[in-house]
Amino acid sequence: MKATAVEQQALLDLAAVDLEIARANRRLAEIEQATARDAAQAKLSAASEQLLTARHIADELASEIERLEQDLALVDTRIAQDKSRLETSSNPRDITGIQHELVSLEKRKANLEEAELELLERREANSADVAEAATARTTAQAELDQIDAELEASAVKAKSGLALLMQQREKFASLVTAEQQELYNKLVGKTLPVARLEGFTCGACNLALSGATVDEIRSTPRDELARCPECAAMLVTF
Ligand SMILES: [Zn+2]
Repeated sequence: MKATAVEQQALLDLAAVDLEIARANRRLAEIEQATARDAAQAKLSAASEQLLTARHIADELASEIERLEQDLALVDTRIAQDKSRLETSSNPRDITGIQHELVSLEKRKANLEEAELELLERREANSADVAEAATARTTAQAELDQIDAELEASAVKAKSGLALLMQQREKFASLVTAEQQELYNKLVGKTLPVARLEGFTCGACNLALSGATVDEIRSTPRDELARCPECAAMLVTF
């Protein structure tokens, strides 16, 4: 295939820039997959769940305490009623009955107060849990936000680098003929489409070629594209 020195150089540049584009694309894919983000996201989910659980326990404790306080109020009312009945009663049998009831009411009250004390202690411990989980969640969210901001910045940088490479590619591609471009496209993915002959070695497949083959390649006219007999790459000899 005919190719001027300028076209041959442009083909070499095209192959080099395509390698860089492939590298830049891989880098961008890495940024977008970002394993660090997954870890931060998992941490945030765990913290959120912990906070949810702690708040659920807080709600349960609050209703238990409320129920208990209602029971206590009822007992207090009954005690007050019994005491006033005791003051006005003159029947010894009634008095004994009321006194018995008062003893059991006082015992019930003591039990309720003890249970309430235990619930209040649990509520205090739970408040600390809620605060701790809320702090952990805030921290995890901040970490995730920071990672996202960093990834976003890296992605923007990688994309602008890629855009620059694509511009260069366009420039090199505009310098080669349609026929050369077609051959280039056919070779992409199979081998490095264009390379230099480095001594006896093909720069595309890195295979050492025989002396006779190299002589043949080197005798190719300057305005012709030589090909590697091993990998079919276009070989530039200057
Ligand atoms: Zn080769």
